[in-house]
Amino acid sequence: MTHDVLVIGAGPGGLSVASGLARAGACVQVIDEQPYAGGQIFRASEKSARAGNEIRGWLGEEYSGGLDLIRSAKRQERIDWQFATSVWDIRCEDDHIELGLVHGETASITQARHVVLASGAMERPAPFKGWTLPGVMGIGAAQTLFKDAGLVPENGVVLAGSGPLLYLFANQLLSAGVRPGAILDFAAKWVSAQHLVPLTRVAWHSRTALLKGLKWRSRIARAGIPHLFGVDELEAVGKDEVQGVHYRKGGQSHQFETSLLLVHDGVIPNTHMTVAAGCDHNWLAQQQYWQPGLNDKGQTSQQGLWVVGDCAGIMGAEAAEIQGRIVARNIAGKLGLAIGKAEATQAQKDLAELKKLAALRQFIDLQYPPAKTFATPADDTVICRCEAVTAGEIREIAQLGCQGPNQARAFTRAGMGPCMGRGCGLSVSRLMAEVSGNDIEQVGHYSTRTPLKPVTLSQLASLNDT
Ligand SMILES: Cc1cc2nc3c(=O)[nH]c(=O)nc-3n(C[C@H](O)[C@H](O)[C@H](O)COP(=O)(O)OP(=O)(O)OC[C@H]3O[C@@H](n4cnc5c(N)ncnc54)[C@H](O)[C@@H]3O)c2cc1C
Repeated sequence: MTHDVLVIGAGPGGLSVASGLARAGACVQVIDEQPYAGGQIFRASEKSARAGNEIRGWLGEEYSGGLDLIRSAKRQERIDWQFATSVWDIRCEDDHIELGLVHGETASITQARHVVLASGAMERPAPFKGWTLPGVMGIGAAQTLFKDAGLVPENGVVLAGSGPLLYLFANQLLSAGVRPGAILDFAAKWVSAQHLVPLTRVAWHSRTALLKGLKWRSRIARAGIPHLFGVDELEAVGKDEVQGVHYRKGGQSHQFETSLLLVHDGVIPNTHMTVAAGCDHNWLAQQQYWQPGLNDKGQTSQQGLWVVGDCAGIMGAEAAEIQGRIVARNIAGKLGLAIGKAEATQAQKDLAELKKLAALRQFIDLQYPPAKTFATPADDTVICRCEAVTAGEIREIAQLGCQGPNQARAFTRAGMGPCMGRGCGLSVSRLMAEVSGNDIEQVGHYSTRTPLKPVTLSQLASLNDT
């Protein structure tokens, strides 16, 4: 079966672009490595709806609301779903794009003239002393276990870092009857004077989102959970597993006992595929991440390769859905498909709404900047967990004149493990910038090569059978 468009990712961005294209008459394939649709925010939403368990209630209204988007996409007959399928290769040819897929033990190659990457975000790597101890993990990872497997931590879990996910997850835990021991917040308690102008710009049109954030914070306070703002350093302590956390606040060190420390420093676009495809990228200094350069239609510098959602720059689920509709209309135009009158009217509204969401995001980015301490880890902190390379080793080769992250990879093996540099790429670039005194933009990022995801030789050999 040939497809007009291949969409990678079945989160809000991918579901929206696929639905829009299918409605316009295109034949679409949606590929996702998860066994079901929903992406990060609506992960396992169909599964928990079918099971009818209490998990959905604990995760909140927003999570339950995603089911409508999933169900409406599933009703489209022109969408062919490929779940539990990972993209391990992407190649841009003159008139088409080729993808290497792996599903179970079988690898295959597929192609189309248009490919939409809706591969979302990942947690920003947050290295600090003790972060490799058992009992330390990302808040996003803990939330994934909650959504997917209904697993929640025990009372006394400590949440640390910054960003709205910290408050959302604390609320989800409270709903599930779990009492966090403390919240060690790197953000300031109140909006600083210099951020008041961006806040007033968004205060009215984004009042629902802002009130939601305040509600989350006030529920934490009402539950009596110690919520400490302005924390600026963190260390997980313990012999074979985490037993406590040291933190610094207001120049003073404190300690808290815990057997589980969950950390979060915001999310960054998952640019592995856009880098591998050879797309141009821009460095965003405020947000401290790379994002693919897109034209005003949502197309990358590679012909026929489009990006929507958090993979294009962190804007949240609502924006991902809107971007999906916009890109669907643009691709439909390229395919010569007519879009309905209702879709055309929606176009203006979408652009206006996206502008408002961008302004809100600007405020969130100012209020929750990436923590400095995770950008400058101590020398004995492991940076590349796959290959056990420390920050000190990266600094040492940078001082010896190593030219950039790709040479650092060759010298130290950082970035050569199974995660293919997802976990350490940003940290290595930051450290090299720190030593050289150059901007990260000049230092650059890892180049990414196939395989993007681990594939076995037997899976590769199965290509001969297809
Ligand atoms: C860990 C985590 C938890 C989050 N939790 C929340 C939350 O609770 N609430 C909230 O508002 N926002 C949350 N966010 C932010 C949130 O992800 C989004 O704003 C929203 O889901 C973005 O939608 P999207 O369609 O761009 O991407 P996503 O929803 O992330 O969907 C991307 C999809 O692409 C698939 N994919 C990626 N790479 C490949 C590949 N190589 N092959 C095949 N498939 C691939 C993934 O499996 C995923 O299903 C979270 C982000 C992260 C990283």
